[in-house]
Formats: sequence, structure tokens, C-alpha cells
Amino acid sequence: MSRRISLTEASRRAPRILSRGDSKLLDEGAPPTLSDLAGALQFALGDGRIWLNDDRMVMMQTASLGHLRHEMIEAMGMDQTRRIFRQVGWNQGIHLADVIAQRFQQQDLTAALAAGPRIHTMEGFVKVTTKRFEFDVARGHYHGEFYWHDSSEAIEHLSHYGVCDCPVCWMLIGVPSGYTTRLLGHPVIFREVECTGMGAERCVIIGRHAEAWGDDVPELAEFGLDTPRSRGKPWKPPVDLPKADEDGAGTIQGRSPAIMRARRLIERVGGYDEPVMLLGEPGTGKELFARRLHE
Ligand SMILES: [Zn+2]
Repeated sequence: MSRRISLTEASRRAPRILSRGDSKLLDEGAPPTLSDLAGALQFALGDGRIWLNDDRMVMMQTASLGHLRHEMIEAMGMDQTRRIFRQVGWNQGIHLADVIAQRFQQQDLTAALAAGPRIHTMEGFVKVTTKRFEFDVARGHYHGEFYWHDSSEAIEHLSHYGVCDCPVCWMLIGVPSGYTTRLLGHPVIFREVECTGMGAERCVIIGRHAEAWGDDVPELAEFGLDTPRSRGKPWKPPVDLPKADEDGAGTIQGRSPAIMRARRLIERVGGYDEPVMLLGEPGTGKELFARRLHE
């Protein structure tokens, strides 16, 4: 069993979180290091306050956050909960970028970007390792690939719902989007291409300039970035799930994980011009899902 150590000791012992990958611009020795970041975290013991620079923080069990998340999913469904959690993460990323800018007066943008994964790791949400990132502010270009290990959000999702068919680290994925966008000044959207919540060994996230993701970027509206875009079709908001009729007839009922997974699957395949075959026992509601698919 591993011995528990203080934050200061942890920062002293921590290996380099970032690996060079093929990022030519990454200077691994540049501050703020994990030790510098740990110095910005202050505990006013007995006074009921914890600070990260000027931001008040709290310590909270991840299980409590998982419980909140579970209650929200049950009350308002996965789509709405995912939207809210991504927005929360986005705001967290904005605040963290401001902490770096205010505290360290960072002139080296590469080092400032490299601090994002470190501070996210220090907060205990997930261990981040950098595969690579590159950017060109003048061209509005950014590409970053990171690995997430032991995502606290995925662990909580798995404990409540088991393996999911879509990425589940909703709050976590908003953080690098907000952080990177704030620092670069142009919209960078991160997405999970693999997730522990889907059964993968680790989560893999990729960040790109919003336009590089194509026309379907619902995150832009969620993050308040849905300004007219310079090319491609205008962005359209995602279609909400249908409201139940007065008597509930003719609509998909139920909020069980299985129903929600099936609804989510329908929404995912709805964007393709391919035939879809629905399989199921008589009376399971295939026609309702078919109707939903056409809608
Ligand atoms: Zn994940």
C-alpha cells in the first residue's frame, strides 16, 4: 500500500508530467513547474478556507461529485447533464488560465499551455500526460493530444452505470477547452476519442481549433462561442429529445441507463445517411426508436 505524503513532498518527488512527444515548442524546464503550482495552493487551516492563488477552493469526495452527477442524470437525462458538466469544466479551465496568467505573469505561451495539464493533475481530477501539442497563434492553429489516466469522473460514471457507449468525462473535457481557448484567444475544442468509461485502458483527448472539427461543433454554443463562422454550413443546435405527449403515448419513455444508452445511440447514428436495422423482441418499441431516428 502506498504511503500518504504531503502536497509539498509530492511536488518534490513528482516525475515530469509532460513528455516531449514531438512538440518542438515545449520547454520542459520552464516554469510554472508542479512545485510552483503547489506553492499557489494555500490552506488557511482552522479558518475554513483553501485558496488556489485568489480562487477559493474546497476539498470534496469524488463520490459526492459522482452522486450529484447521478442525481442530475436521473432528473434531467444524459444530454442535459453532459451539457451542464461541460460548461462547468469550461469555466474551470477559464479560471485556471487566469490563475496562470495572474500568478506567474507567464510570457512563454508554450510553458503556459504546458501548465494546464499539470494544474489539472494537481487538482486530483485526472493524471494527464502530454503526447504532443503544437500551435500557431497567427494562423489560428492548435493541435494537442493528451492521455488521461484514472479519470475520477469516469470511475464515478462506471460505478453508477457501468460501461457506456460514449465518452463520459464531461466536466473534465471542458477544462482543456476553456484553458487553451483563454490562453490562445481563439476557440479550441477538446474531445475524447477514447474513454475509460467506454472500457478503454485510458482516456485519449484531442484538441483542435473549432473549425478543424468541421460543421458539427455543439460545444461552441455550450461555451458561448457560437458566432457566425467563416466557412462551412452554419452551425445548428442539436435537436432535443422529443417532449412527451400529454398521455405519454408515442414517445420513448423511461430513464433507465439501458433506455438512455439506446436513445443516445439513435442520436449518434441519426447524423449518417446509412440504413439502420433495429433488432429486438416484439413489443420492445422498435417503431418508436425508428420514428425518433427519422425525426
Ligand atoms: Zn474519459
